[in-house]
Amino acid sequence: MNRLIFDNSFSQLGEHFFTRVQPSGLPNPSLTNVNPEAAKLLGLEPPDLLQDWFLQWCSGNQRMPGSDPLAMVYSGHQFGGYSPQLGDGRGLLLGEIKGPEGKWDIHLKGAGKTPYSRFGDGRAVLRSTIREYLCSEAMHGLGIPSTRALSITTSDEPVYRETQETATMLIRLSRSHVRFGSFEYFHHHNEPNAVKRLADHVLEQHLPELIDKENRYLEMFRHTVHSTAKLIAQWQAIGFAHGVMNTDNMSIIGETMDYGPFGFLDAYNPGYICNHSDTSGRYAFSRQPVIGLWNCNALANALTSLISVEQLTGVLEEYEPLLLSTLLKLQRCKLGLEQQQSDDETLIEDLLDSLAQNQVDYTIFFRRLCYFDENAPDQSTSHVELRDLFLDRTACDDWIARYRQRLALEQRSPVDRQETMRQTNPKYVLRNYMAEIAIRKAEDKNDYREIDRILLLVQSPFDEHPECEEYAKHPPAWSQQLSVSCSS
Ligand code: AMP
Ligand code: MG
Repeated sequence: MNRLIFDNSFSQLGEHFFTRVQPSGLPNPSLTNVNPEAAKLLGLEPPDLLQDWFLQWCSGNQRMPGSDPLAMVYSGHQFGGYSPQLGDGRGLLLGEIKGPEGKWDIHLKGAGKTPYSRFGDGRAVLRSTIREYLCSEAMHGLGIPSTRALSITTSDEPVYRETQETATMLIRLSRSHVRFGSFEYFHHHNEPNAVKRLADHVLEQHLPELIDKENRYLEMFRHTVHSTAKLIAQWQAIGFAHGVMNTDNMSIIGETMDYGPFGFLDAYNPGYICNHSDTSGRYAFSRQPVIGLWNCNALANALTSLISVEQLTGVLEEYEPLLLSTLLKLQRCKLGLEQQQSDDETLIEDLLDSLAQNQVDYTIFFRRLCYFDENAPDQSTSHVELRDLFLDRTACDDWIARYRQRLALEQRSPVDRQETMRQTNPKYVLRNYMAEIAIRKAEDKNDYREIDRILLLVQSPFDEHPECEEYAKHPPAWSQQLSVSCSS
């Protein structure tokens, strides 16, 4: 007996917005990983996850009552150029499930060919599936809005990339799969009625509190712009690079989505380009805030049939100040500063410059800073552990002296501050090499346990995990050779 009953608000929009497609199920599927946290969101109990119907569903072989699988159509700006025809080329929206905390879109990634597959085979490979499974949960664990991941299902179906790989499926959960590119598609096809229908859908499903407002479309746009600005501020504060910020990968509700060649910073490097295919560095780490605005501008353009240009421009002007003020707030938290002082920004900028010049590991620096005791003498353990990270030790000493003075203006006790800082500065982030270890074990040895181990770690990245201490250290030398690109 299965427990998943589907509803389909998106399919009620009509076939203009999608193409109905049945999943091409995986032969001889094997459910290698299930995320209990995501299962709970759907109201599933642990015994359900062991049932054959669950495996058959996760592998696209069994349809659930009410499910109406479809490939959504969209377009988008990819690396700055407009691609008029994109869409779900290797994933399907199966419908919606109402869980204890509300409704979730359920997306089956790797479900086979659709009319939008272009030259692709509609499949996802194991390595990219593992990366998305782990990273979406890592982002959620860090408190950053993200799609979620329920399961990884492998098979013995070969797929061909540079080498032969294994066809794999991921079940993804999101509050909405509508993208900036969904609006762009209808705008650029000169279909203002469809733009309006889609906006009404987003309002009804995700922003019901705005429906009765006279300027509801403007408020919807404002919501997207604001949530995008806040999202990207969070990426910058944690040191996350998305890698492919095309408008078809931008969520209308401001979640991180479509994980490909993402990367977390190791040594602090504003110019970090995580995507090997991004030869011009369009999506370099430090460019993410400005690209976010560029993308909001593309969305604004797609909404000109609903909202005046003056109003759209007015909202776009709110993006930069909101992003900067959110980022500053997050950076103050990282430093444990509750008070606001006028030269805090200089203190932060000088620190980041110094981290870059000294190639200091971003995550390790801030985690060690959580143990700094301003009342301990110079060269105490907490100080030495910080200065050991710098090539130029006096650069560290100089900054620490300023930080010590700044902390003197705070009211909070050092113990309270340190405790709060440890809830802001993670001990663990999903560095590329960690995902790579899990991938190699899975691909070479059929061993999927490392995925579960890392999942637990990244789901509570602020906590201590003594059994995984290795993953809190500097990345190994071989990780420098890793390169990830869009090929998946
Ligand atoms: P992405 O870079 O993963 O966001 O994908 C960009 C576009 O290419 C989307 O429309 C995808 O659905 C499509 N796509 C990516 N990989 C495949 C594949 N293996 N088969 C079919 N379509 C794909
Ligand atoms: Mg995409």
